Amino acid sequence: MKWTMFMMKVESNKEVLLYNTYNRAVVILDKLEYNNINDLIHGKKVKEVQSNKSEVKSQIEKLREMKFIMEDETNEKEEYLKELKEFYENDDFLALLVLPTTACNFDCTYCYQKGIPLHVVNRNIIASIMSRIEELLEDNKEIKMTKIDFFGGEPLLNWNFIEDFTKEFSSLMRKRTIDYFLKLTTNGYLLDLNKINFLLKYNLQQIQITMDGLPEVHDKRRMLKGTHKGTFDRIFNNLKGLLDLKDARDLLILLRINFDYQNVDHIPDFLDFIKRELGVDNIEISFGQVTSPINFNYEYMIPFDEVPEHYIKLYKVRLGFTLSDTFTFGSLCFAKRKFSYVVAPNGDIYKCVSSVGVDRMKEGNIYKNPLYKIRDYLFVDLYDECFKEKCPFIPICHTGCRFVSFIRYGDIKKRDCHREEMKRINSEILKIQYLDGY
Ligand code: SF4
Ligand code: SF4
Repeated sequence: MKWTMFMMKVESNKEVLLYNTYNRAVVILDKLEYNNINDLIHGKKVKEVQSNKSEVKSQIEKLREMKFIMEDETNEKEEYLKELKEFYENDDFLALLVLPTTACNFDCTYCYQKGIPLHVVNRNIIASIMSRIEELLEDNKEIKMTKIDFFGGEPLLNWNFIEDFTKEFSSLMRKRTIDYFLKLTTNGYLLDLNKINFLLKYNLQQIQITMDGLPEVHDKRRMLKGTHKGTFDRIFNNLKGLLDLKDARDLLILLRINFDYQNVDHIPDFLDFIKRELGVDNIEISFGQVTSPINFNYEYMIPFDEVPEHYIKLYKVRLGFTLSDTFTFGSLCFAKRKFSYVVAPNGDIYKCVSSVGVDRMKEGNIYKNPLYKIRDYLFVDLYDECFKEKCPFIPICHTGCRFVSFIRYGDIKKRDCHREEMKRINSEILKIQYLDGY
């Protein structure tokens, strides 16, 4: 028998914590227990094992059930890749990220869309998108669920489009008896109750709003275009209004905080404020590292190798907010799913939203190309190197981020590996969450 390769191990003085990145199972053993099991696994004679033999055997059985331990002959690579391919092939989820505009009412200092040509969507794009969706559904009867994510630019600048698109999309889904839900990703400035109530009627399930700190920090980064006035107060009031809305109780409200050198040390005060004013129960926080946009060098960007120390500090002060229990730079993200597409206002199709406006990452155009012809972004061959290196993070990293590969190597088909950073961050997260004294 052997340990799974998808295992992280972290230790405190007395305990050993094992985390399975494949199924997220966690087990905490005292050191002696762990050493006994490890000895047995490595073929040491049972008489050398100091503790009760039957106890160790029953622990091993438990660890086997939790997939921490397996037979020597198990080929984890083969099994994992087979499952991954099956998951990909049988995917029944269509996700469409629609940009009603690339224009924005903000002038954020770090915006990746700076310099991208401004386009507002042309109305006849709705008919084209609907017919592309129909075509795709016709060919892929396995699709059972669809999601529309309105993204930008600032999507609420083109509210009429959102209304018309949502009505058309909803009637198409009803006609085909397919379930759907909506997500809105917005800077929050134009988010009023009329808009929310409209979207709720069409099964809005998630809203993501970005705030980068208290007013003195946020307003230096996320200001209004033209006047450069601060935006904190208005966004905060809109967020408060949203939380007070009875019908929005089941809505998942994601508060995105983008961090870099300029604001990272101020985030704890901001979290404290949000906790005091809005509570921790109805908001999920996510931290996003600001990466240098393709078209300019951003002076406050934190280099990848310094991200762990900052992220760990943020994790420690999360103050009761829900945060993901693993950290990754890549994941089986939107772009790597089979039926996922980003449609820009001019009809250009991408797989990844960060690449909008980057010509070499454009994969087609809605007026010319059917969605089923858009190339895949899950490159199974790339996993070979990760398996060769016996990386435990494969199930949460999936060879990294395609967009960052493009930035780093000019090629999306390269691994974007941050193994060392992931090891540092995830080990600390596990210690903080599960081990005494952290
Ligand atoms: S490729 Fe990278 S930037 Fe694009 S969706 Fe995936 S993780 Fe995000
Ligand atoms: S890219 Fe690096 S961190 Fe990610 S799975 Fe491969 S080896 Fe691991």
